[in-house]
Amino acid sequence: MAFPLLGDDATHAVKPTPIPDPYWVAFSTSAAKLIDLPLGSNDLPKDSAWLDLLAGNTLVTDAHSFPNPIATVYSGHQFGVWAGQLGDGRAILLGEISGQELQLKGAGKTRYSRMGDGRAVLRSSIREFLCSEAMHALGIPTSRALAVVGSDLPVRRETMETAAVCARLAPSFIRIGHFEHYASNNNIVRLQELADELIKGHYQNASDHKNPYLELFRQICVRNAKLVAQWQAVGFCHGVLNSDNISVLGLTIDYGPFGFLDQFQIDFICNHSDQAGRYAYHRQPQIMHWNMACLASAFIPLLALEHSEDEAQTLLGEALSEFAVIYGQTWQALFREKLGLLTTQEGDTDLIERLLQAMHDSKVDFTNLFRGLSSVSVRNTTQDVILRDHFIDRQAIDQWFSDYIARLNAESSDDTERKKRMDSVNPKYILRNYLAQKAIDKAQAKDFSEIASLLKVLENPFAEQDQYAAYALPPSPDWQSVEISCSS
Ligand code: AMP
Ligand code: MG
Repeated sequence: MAFPLLGDDATHAVKPTPIPDPYWVAFSTSAAKLIDLPLGSNDLPKDSAWLDLLAGNTLVTDAHSFPNPIATVYSGHQFGVWAGQLGDGRAILLGEISGQELQLKGAGKTRYSRMGDGRAVLRSSIREFLCSEAMHALGIPTSRALAVVGSDLPVRRETMETAAVCARLAPSFIRIGHFEHYASNNNIVRLQELADELIKGHYQNASDHKNPYLELFRQICVRNAKLVAQWQAVGFCHGVLNSDNISVLGLTIDYGPFGFLDQFQIDFICNHSDQAGRYAYHRQPQIMHWNMACLASAFIPLLALEHSEDEAQTLLGEALSEFAVIYGQTWQALFREKLGLLTTQEGDTDLIERLLQAMHDSKVDFTNLFRGLSSVSVRNTTQDVILRDHFIDRQAIDQWFSDYIARLNAESSDDTERKKRMDSVNPKYILRNYLAQKAIDKAQAKDFSEIASLLKVLENPFAEQDQYAAYALPPSPDWQSVEISCSS
């Protein structure tokens, strides 16, 4: 099997290390459709060899064989500092099915494991599984999760836990770090091959451009600018936006200590190891831009094939400057939709920002506030708006609702139609940390039913699903103070 996006000197042939007595922990029928995997009546693969395949215990099933699994090398910037060579230290790429790369995370040591054990724990694998599928259902580009397979194999983190393997799917797992790796090694031949293959496989329209590498760079920036705007609009915090965790396809990848906002805090930090708040909610756009600048540096030698180095830098700098424009436009469009606005009017940005500020000041639940906003009527006076009860500064929020209702009236907004539109963009259900943790607690006692229930709810985040209304509740006070371990 060929992995055209990577040259031989960037791959390490390595077989997964088996785990004892694997069992199904979670399975996504929706992700299974991506690779046309036949399922039985129990919604698991018909061919039982798939359990062993996804555990890393075999490389063949009835219909597939993966004779050449690999780990890839990449480099990158971690927390703003050049970290040198990294690589797939515990993720092993089995091969490709139906245009999707199948990767096993936690499948054992590779050449790039450094001091790590090559494993992932059950807890972090469940979190990655649920969040990948939840993000997809929210319409946010992401790698997918096919399954989590568990084992009683002990794994040491802060405490002893057990091992699991998360089977992930994506059209490509290539990261900025892959480009940085070749650029830092001055391996221009491989750098060029990587860019050529990326264009051929995923950015065909860039090849018609007079400067395909510049166009490739521009399009990667556009995708990631839109991606980060989408994160902001659902209150998602990635947690570790290192350049080795940024996809060149503009997908959300490498779920670790991520968190969805419950109470809105503009400077919310979901990663407890991130004391300086580099990856806080409000910094994500600027950090993504910083990562695109890392990619721009890696692209200089490509542009310099046809231009002087100075020209190369200027061209890439111009393309990079589009990031802020695309991000800003997308952010505004998404938040306008969240408010149910159809037209663009002066003062809209101010209206959005004033709401966010009031939510921050009163620590209002991000998801439930936006969801509730669709019940505001153009005929309301501010006193009718029940949502005002969530805010401490009533005067400020009354002024805001009064301006909002006036703004809706200014475009002759129709209550029924607007509610329908708003409820299709403001999710009712997100993967709140406490929900994930409850499912994990049960799974650690070998009860996997809560993962399945949660997955079902999160697969339809915009539907009311009355029987699951409890999943829309913010964390109770005792859950708010629970620190979720970030080790994985
Ligand atoms: P992450 O923070 O998960 O994106 O990982 C950063 C780097 O550390 C990547 O190169 C991973 O492959 C590697 N890594 C993380 N955990 C482990 C582990 N348990 N064993 C081996 N490598 C790991
Ligand atoms: Mg990573």
